[in-house]
This record gives sequence, structure tokens and C-alpha cells, in this order.
Amino acid sequence: MHFRVKRPELLAPAGNLEKLKTAIHYGADAVYLSGKLYGLRSFAGNFTISEMEEGIKLAHKKGAKVYVTVNIFPRNEDLRKLPDYLIDLEQIGVDAIIVSDPGTVIMTKELIPEIPLHLSTQANTTNWRSVEFWKDQGISRVNLARELSFSEIEYITGKVDIEIETFVHGAMCISYSGRCLLSNYLTHRDSNRGECSQPCRWKYMLMEESRPGIYLPIFEDDRGSYILSSEDLCLIEYIPNLIGAGVDSLKIEGRMKGINYVGNVVRVYRKAIDEYLDNPDKYEFRNEWPEELKKVSHRNYTAGFFCEKSTRGSQNYSSSSYVQTHDLVGVVREVSGNNEIRVEVRNQIRLGDEVEFIGKSGEINHLFLEKMINEDGETIEIAQPNQIVILTVNFPTSVTDLIRKQK
Ligand code: SF4
Repeated sequence: MHFRVKRPELLAPAGNLEKLKTAIHYGADAVYLSGKLYGLRSFAGNFTISEMEEGIKLAHKKGAKVYVTVNIFPRNEDLRKLPDYLIDLEQIGVDAIIVSDPGTVIMTKELIPEIPLHLSTQANTTNWRSVEFWKDQGISRVNLARELSFSEIEYITGKVDIEIETFVHGAMCISYSGRCLLSNYLTHRDSNRGECSQPCRWKYMLMEESRPGIYLPIFEDDRGSYILSSEDLCLIEYIPNLIGAGVDSLKIEGRMKGINYVGNVVRVYRKAIDEYLDNPDKYEFRNEWPEELKKVSHRNYTAGFFCEKSTRGSQNYSSSSYVQTHDLVGVVREVSGNNEIRVEVRNQIRLGDEVEFIGKSGEINHLFLEKMINEDGETIEIAQPNQIVILTVNFPTSVTDLIRKQK
């Protein structure tokens, strides 16, 4: 296979302003976020218009772009406030709007024709003719369905001349990305309007009609019965393939996840992309990358459909809970010249703990906590969440660096 080398964008989720700053700090080229209206992920925090404006200014100052999701499948009543919202988005300077519904596409083109439109994965685009169709509708970028294999992605990028975006990391749906009514039926929460309660992750039992209350376990095999729960996508191994295929944007899922997830996942993908682009011929996959990705909150990882067919291994049979080996314990808030730093504590730390500072270029520095000082200048033994502590370090750190501790 002949690989082309074009620098792809690394696109990260930003559920709030802090996540936006963290994603950009660790090397995201662009972030996507939602306002309080019209974006899937109703429970991610999300931005008011003025927060979005602040986020956009901050991102632009650092050379990063901001895309705003307007990708729900709106009902008629949802369309009433949409024009005002779209005009607000144009006025605050968004770089693109992410859409999935054809009615929203038409309204957006009529009202704010200058703003680029990206087609969401919710539109489930699975072939090159569909990509061309959307291009004819004025779409400038298509996020392909997560269910495509690499050869299908490569075939599409070879056929079309608009930007192609693919997911490389994060949670997967058991249905075509959100096109699922399980949540509507079981909890009256509409997954296509950002309210999915994730019943695909629940543990199900079998009950015979005349024996209420007697639950018969379902065993797919000896691991259990999470019959609908997908593992999480992780394509860190396939970065050269995606770059070689000419994919324009590599997207990370997870607007609901915390800054530890956003910062570390961005950092690892940034490193892999940069190392490949620096010297494609000498590029070597580093085993530490998947190991680092296991330190953040995740379900077991899978390559999903990327390598042709999904397998039984893509299914989470034994548990639907997240796993994570490290906790976020703090964020660097101020750095002074004499190696003193002010840290905002996020999880309890105490003297004797060993913590890891995660530098923005990927370096990890270890520190044994031998001395902690509070804001009143007193030496303390334990620091609690939200407290500010002063630490002394003998390695470089910068504001927004994350600090973690092994569980
Ligand atoms: S219930 Fe599961 S499969 Fe359905 S939309 Fe929600 S996350 Fe996706």
C-alpha cells in the first residue's frame, strides 16, 4: 500500500471550559462542544453562549479551532429557537457547526451560509456516494460511521474530495451511533436528543411470565450477560494507516469524561501522530501508548469494525463498568521561578504518596510528597479536594498540567 502523508487534525471533546483548556494544553488541534441546546450529550455540562465565546477566544489564541454540535434530530417544536441560536453561534465566531439532520442543514445554510458544516457520525454515512450527496448539500466535512472497516474508509477517502473525519477513540454504541430507541422505551430519554441513559450497559436477566420475581441469569458464556454493551474504541495502533489513507481529522469521543481522560488521551494520540509525521519510515509503535490509555477511565478496548469484522472480543460480556488504574489528584494552577507550584487538589493526597506529573509534551515526572503547605503557609499532612497546596518540584511543569496517582 502506498501511504500519503498529510497532517491530520486531532479533534478532542470539550464538555466544559476546563476540558477545552486541557485538550488544547495537551495538543488538540480542534475541540468540539455543545451549547445548552441542540447538541447530543445533554448531561455533559455544556456551554452558555458567553462561555462558548470565551472558549473560542482562548482556542483561537492558541491556534485551535472550535466546532459546535447542533446534531440532535429535532422535532418540529425544536426548530422554533434554532434560528436565533444559529445566529448567536455565527456571531461568536465558531469555526464549524456539526449537524446531522437535513432540516437543520437547510436552515443553517439559509441563515449562516458562511459557516462550514460538518456532518455528524449520527448521520451514519457508510459509502462514498453518500459523502458526495452530502457535499452537494453544502457539507464540507463528513464524519464516517464508526462501523466502517479501514478498507472502506480508505476506499472513501480515495474517491471523494471533501474532508473526512473518523473516530479513533472512545465509547461505541451497539446500534448505529445513537440511532437507537432503547433509552426512549425504557427511561423516556431520547438518545437522539442527547439524553441517552445507556440501557445497553445494563445487566439483563430472563424472567418466565408465570414466575414473577424469579430471574434466570443469561450466560452468553462463562463471563456473564452484558449482551448489548460494546467495548470502547481504541485505534492508537492504526494511526499510520489512517494518516496514509488521507483522513483529515481524527476524533476522540467523550464529552462526558473528565479532564484526566481528555488530557491523557489527547497527549497519547498527539505523540503517536507527531512521531509518525516526523519520520514515517522510522516510526515505531510504542507499547507505552496503550498502557497510558488504560490509566484513564475506559471499558476494555477494541478496534471495533476497523479490521473488517467486529468479533466476540468487541463485546463487553463480563462488566459494563469503567476501569481505570490511576486517579486524577490535582491540576497545576501556578508555577513560580523557585520551583514552587500551586496545585488545585482534586482527590485526597497525603504525605508519603507518590504522584505523577503529566507534562504537556508527554513527559511523566514522579514526586514523593514529602512536604505540603496550605494557603495559610502551614505544613499539612493531608490535602482534600478543592484545596490549594504549595509543592516544591525539581522538574519543569506548566499551568494546566495534570497530576495523577495510581489507585
Ligand atoms: S442505549 Fe446504548 S446503543 Fe442505544 S443510543 Fe444509548 S449508548 Fe447507544
